[in-house]
Amino acid sequence: MNIHEYQAKELLRRYGVAVLDGHVAWTPEEAEAAAAKLPGPVTVVKSQIHAGGRGAGRFADDPNGKGGVRLAKSPAEAKAAAAAMIGHTLVTKQTGPQGKLVSRVYVEAGCDIARELYLGLLVDRATSRLTIMASTEGGMEIEEVAEHHPEKILKVAIDPASGLSGFHARKLAFGLGLSGKQVGSFTKFATALYGAFQELDCAIVEINPLVVTGAGDIVALDAKVSFDDNALFRHKDLESLRDDSEMDPKELDAVRNDLNYVALDGEIGCMVNGAGLAMATMDIIKLYGSSPANFLDVGGTADAARVTEAFRIITSDANVKAILVNIFGGIAKCDMIATGIVEASKNLHLSVPLVVRLEGTNVELGKKILAESGLAIIPADNLADAAQKVVAAVKKGG
Ligand code: ADP
Ligand code: MG
Repeated sequence: MNIHEYQAKELLRRYGVAVLDGHVAWTPEEAEAAAAKLPGPVTVVKSQIHAGGRGAGRFADDPNGKGGVRLAKSPAEAKAAAAAMIGHTLVTKQTGPQGKLVSRVYVEAGCDIARELYLGLLVDRATSRLTIMASTEGGMEIEEVAEHHPEKILKVAIDPASGLSGFHARKLAFGLGLSGKQVGSFTKFATALYGAFQELDCAIVEINPLVVTGAGDIVALDAKVSFDDNALFRHKDLESLRDDSEMDPKELDAVRNDLNYVALDGEIGCMVNGAGLAMATMDIIKLYGSSPANFLDVGGTADAARVTEAFRIITSDANVKAILVNIFGGIAKCDMIATGIVEASKNLHLSVPLVVRLEGTNVELGKKILAESGLAIIPADNLADAAQKVVAAVKKGG
């Protein structure tokens, strides 16, 4: 789950991470009042969307105008900047050409920037450790730095048993060319950020830029925080930070129904149990020349109700030209799944070809239920057979 910059900064502040003062504003008038509360003389008005590259982005209705992060020299200027952002669509490198609608801005104290650095924390699956990445190339996308100047990225892997120590932080600080009081300031910052990452079960925390101020302090000028969805049950209070308008409606629907669903842009809707089987199903669809419209793991407890919900979400996608059900009956028996498929197909008046491959407990009974349903369900015997049949159905239809 992703959150907005202003929400991330408010959370990080609680963990002792240095951020500047700021206020969220939903209207130009609120932005004006927010700017008046800040010390000034300069404030910064920042569009809040779940995408980076806002500074260099452009508004769809004003492509030659200024970007999504603007300096304001007075509350009146902050109001004007907010008016140019709120209700307008911001297009950045990360939003795609359709852009994202700005519904609120963050009005923040202006910063006296001496240097812009990069600091990121993530879980590195290769080492099974939390890894801290730092770079002197702040403000640039880290992917770009990694491609053109990999030597400019410093990495430190943290042993979960001993945690972050002063030694790690100093190694990064010296690598970033910090000196004097900046080193202590960085150590404090990195330690607080590491604590927040651990406590909040984050997946990624990215501070870009991390700034060295004219006075030698270290502060987070931007903050991207993404939580590990599988740990969200431990953080009920974070749920309220979810911005539904930033999510694909089908994915939101899936979250509410406890289904693991990721929308993709292909044409074959997939309903599978188990993430590994879902990945394999997507791969084999590709192999036979088509592409999946989604990743969907209905989980081990797939019953008729869940199958119906899953079908509803899959068929709400207009790109879906055929559906492939690939279920391995274990705890959820094949006859139960088959009944669910038949009920759902009838209730939802399914109009696209449906290929079903069942395997496992009570498979014969399951196949019988499908065959006797009177529905035009295409049965398949194995994964390759199923994929070939569903791809053929799509090619025939389209
Ligand atoms: P994005 O990464 O989406 O472009 P940032 O928050 O990183 O958005 O802002 C872009 C740039 O705007 C920063 O690199 C920095 O130069 C400038 N900026 C952002 N916030 C402030 C601030 N409070 N004071 C001064 N400059 C800022
Ligand atoms: Mg940034």
